[in-house]
This record gives sequence, C-alpha cells and structure tokens, in this order.
Amino acid sequence: MTSIQKFTTSGGRIIYSFPVRAFPGLVNNVYLISDGDQLILVDCGSGYDKANDDLLAGVTAVAEQHDHTISLTAVSTILITHGHIDHYGGLPFVRQFTNAPIGIHILDRRVLSNFEERIVFAASRLDIFLERAGVADKHRAGLMAAYHFGKNFYRSTPIQFLLDEDEPTVGGIRVYHVPGHCPGMVCLHVDDIMLTADHVLARITPHQAPESITHNMGLGHYLASLKKIERVDNIRLGLGGHQDPIEDVYGRIAAIRQSHDDRLQKVLDICCAPKSIAAISRELFGNVESYHVLLALEETGAHVEYLYQRGELIAANLDEIAGQRHPIVQYLRA
Ligand SMILES: [Zn+2]
Ligand SMILES: [Zn+2]
Repeated sequence: MTSIQKFTTSGGRIIYSFPVRAFPGLVNNVYLISDGDQLILVDCGSGYDKANDDLLAGVTAVAEQHDHTISLTAVSTILITHGHIDHYGGLPFVRQFTNAPIGIHILDRRVLSNFEERIVFAASRLDIFLERAGVADKHRAGLMAAYHFGKNFYRSTPIQFLLDEDEPTVGGIRVYHVPGHCPGMVCLHVDDIMLTADHVLARITPHQAPESITHNMGLGHYLASLKKIERVDNIRLGLGGHQDPIEDVYGRIAAIRQSHDDRLQKVLDICCAPKSIAAISRELFGNVESYHVLLALEETGAHVEYLYQRGELIAANLDEIAGQRHPIVQYLRA
C-alpha cells in the first residue's frame, strides 16, 4: 500500500506526498496541493512503467484515505520543478488523464518541449567534457550509453505557461528561481512550507555538474541559490523531490554548504600535483560503477570548474592545450 504523507500549511492548504519508483535505485516524491478549489500536481515521476503505476496508485490512495474528490482527471494545474527526467518524464502518461496546463521555468522549458533536440546537444557537450576530463574512448562510449538510459520513454510535450520568480503562480504560490542543480530549478513556497525539489534534500547533497556542459548549472550558481533560499523567512518545513521532509531547512542548507566547502578543499589538496578531472574524481569517489561514474565525474567537474573560475586552480599543461584539438586538461593548485 502506498504510504501517503499529509501536511497542512499555515494558510490551511493540504499537501499530500507519496513516493514513486523513478528508476531502479531512485525514488521520487510527487506532491498534490489542494485548497478545496484547485488541485495542483507537482512533478510526475519518470514515465518508467513502475513510476506510472506508483503515480496512479498514489493518487488513488490519497482519494481513498483522505479526499474522494482527488484524481488525475481532477488536477487543475501541473507544475514541474525542474528539467530532470525523474521529475517530468511522466508527463505524456499524465496527459492521458488531464489537459491541465503545465508550467515550468523558462530555462527548462525546451527540455520538455524540444526533448529530442536537447538530448542531441546535451550529449555532444557531455562527450566533449568527458574527453577533456581524461576519460578513455572505450569508457566514454559506456558512459554515454548510461547517459541515454531511461531517456527513451519520453516524447516532447508542449508547455502552457511559465513559472516566473517575479510573480506568484497559481494559487498565489511564490516561485524562487534557484539555478545550479538544473538551469530552471524552482522552489515553491506554499504558505509556510517550501517545496525544495532537488535544490535542498534531507540527506544527500544535491548533484552538481559543470556549466561547461549546460549553462546556468555549476557550483557557483548553486551556492548563490542556496543563499537565496536561506534568506527567505517563514519556512517551517521543507519538502524535497526525494527523501524525507526537512525539519530545519536553514540548518540543512548550512550543512550542504559545508560539504561543498570540504570537497573544494579536498580538490585543492589533490591538485598539489597536476591531475585530470578523471584522476581527481577517482581520488574523491574511489571505484564507483556504471551510472555513478558519470555522476562522480560531473560532480568533480563542477568543483574543479568552480575553483578554476576563481583562479584557485590553473591549467598545468598549456602547451598541450594550445597544440591539440581535444586536450586533456591537467589542473594544479595555484
Ligand atoms: Zn534533479
Ligand atoms: Zn531528482
């Protein structure tokens, strides 16, 4: 039986939450916000069979246990927190039940509406990143296959409206644009509860990738966006896109910032001699496998890029870089 969590905001709105299995090893939270009038669906899982099953089972369980008026056909608005497929991949499935307008931040719109094009561009930039990071050709092919995994269920879906920080969205919900983990990432402030999506999570430090792959990602943007949420008053509870509710959002932000500071210091220590991103990643994360290799390389790349942008790391092999079309950059502490 699906476990439903129910939260009541200071404004008297009800937020229901239930888990969906997005991909093997990854569980996402889906939210339904009800004020008795409008019913807002926030994120919709990956579109993977099990995720769609869990989405239907979750909505049915909310109806049976709490409010019989709730169903996918009763949804009046769909909000997508960011352009990662574990959050929006279920849209074509949800479209079978409702024509409710879909809203997302403008910087992630084309990911949903021009998906096929976006995959081609993102994949080519990722491949270049991996090459410059020092990943051997034979491993790169495997990592690119891992990148494409799980992205073949989705088909481009038109978006009806945009989430804009300067104006409240449906139901007066306040939107905060928090680029970093994803270009169009938003947090949604519903009275005194903040839907933090993947910007702030209860136990893990949200994944980072360099902005050399995708503009408006990268650690610099992310840390600035943490500050933005830290400055918001009146967050009694955080509800993330994965894992448990966050009782102390401000404390959690401080802990996440500390973990990045520690990792930045580790990268500087590792770069006492020239190292490629692949070599730094092995020292930071040890021997990881399959998709986790890609995540580790992106995470390392984000930290190296942050330090390089700020002059804390320099490129140690300038002659090679100047003379080759696809150089592997060796980073050294400045
Ligand atoms: Zn995400
Ligand atoms: Zn996610």
